Amino acid sequence: MKKDYDLIVVGAGPAGMTAGMYSVRSGLETLVVEKGICGGLSNEAPVIENYPGFKGIGGMELAEKMKEQAAEYVAIKELEEIKKIELREKEMVKEMVIFTEKDSYATNAVVISTGTKHRRLGAKGEAEFLGRGISYCATCDGFFFRDKPVIVVGGGDSAVKEALYLKNIGCEVTLIHRRDKLRAERYLQKNLEEAGVHILWNSVVKEIKGDKAVRSVVRYDKESEIEDELTVEGVFISIGEEPVNELAAQIGIEMDKNGYIITDKSQRTNLERVYAAGDITGGVRQIVVACSEGAIAATSAYNDLLELNAK
Ligand code: NAP
Repeated sequence: MKKDYDLIVVGAGPAGMTAGMYSVRSGLETLVVEKGICGGLSNEAPVIENYPGFKGIGGMELAEKMKEQAAEYVAIKELEEIKKIELREKEMVKEMVIFTEKDSYATNAVVISTGTKHRRLGAKGEAEFLGRGISYCATCDGFFFRDKPVIVVGGGDSAVKEALYLKNIGCEVTLIHRRDKLRAERYLQKNLEEAGVHILWNSVVKEIKGDKAVRSVVRYDKESEIEDELTVEGVFISIGEEPVNELAAQIGIEMDKNGYIITDKSQRTNLERVYAAGDITGGVRQIVVACSEGAIAATSAYNDLLELNAK
């Protein structure tokens, strides 16, 4: 495998795959490195109904299609975690060296598209029962809970989608939300109502209990100030995401107060020839936006490298 690149893309979600494809098409020697598998969190979406061109498509299927297309152009290394990025000076030009668990690669530019990870609830029992009734992904684990009582925690698009998916495969679903209004888009709220998903409003999960597996949750009703125990076998936590920003922090990329990378309209960060794209930049976290930012980041890298080489 070649060791020196014009551009290395860190993370192969929709943003990273698009950046890789655009970069190679513009003529840059490019490598995409991904610690897991292509697609990132989009793999977990039960169905995507707002990505143009597809009326409804599973997240995994869309990610697979993106990978197939991107791989026509760009080399993608999956299951290779980047441990460190080092900024160096080579013949008066800054270069970056990417150290993975297996190898190291030098590059003149980097796109950070490391995405987000699931936020933890912080309830008692959450860590203990992870994989034993607690899940952050209905498409991955929902099947095991068919015909069983489950709760979904959260009130955003993801939580509603998870609840609909679980209801659809035959789970007895209750949605627990901490407020009296959902944050999810209207269209999803309507679907939830039509599906007859039971909602417990103004409620907080205080504890998840069980033996070998989850058996119940302790719910606190903020209105009545009463605690009760609900019999459930599955707990799907869907309360938002947090940026995967450790590599960005390591090299001093500027972030906002929530840890999302700050970029300009060209996806440039505060560091020369370091760009960011996709969910790691916060804002409107949608696949269509991630793809667009990936394309812009790669184009900016191309323009900056062209200028650098002309010097
Ligand atoms: P989100 O929009 O941030 O919603 C998180 C939900 O979890 C909110 O309802 C929030 O309550 C609740 N929450 C947060 N912390 C909590 C805690 N500690 N305890 C209990 N509840 C808590 O997250 P998301 O639904 O994962 O979506 C993330 C982004 O992806 C959003 O921009 C969303 O639009 C996008 N997305 C879009 C689609 C789509 O189909 N268009 C699908 C999935 C995701 P509050 O409402 O009270 O703050």
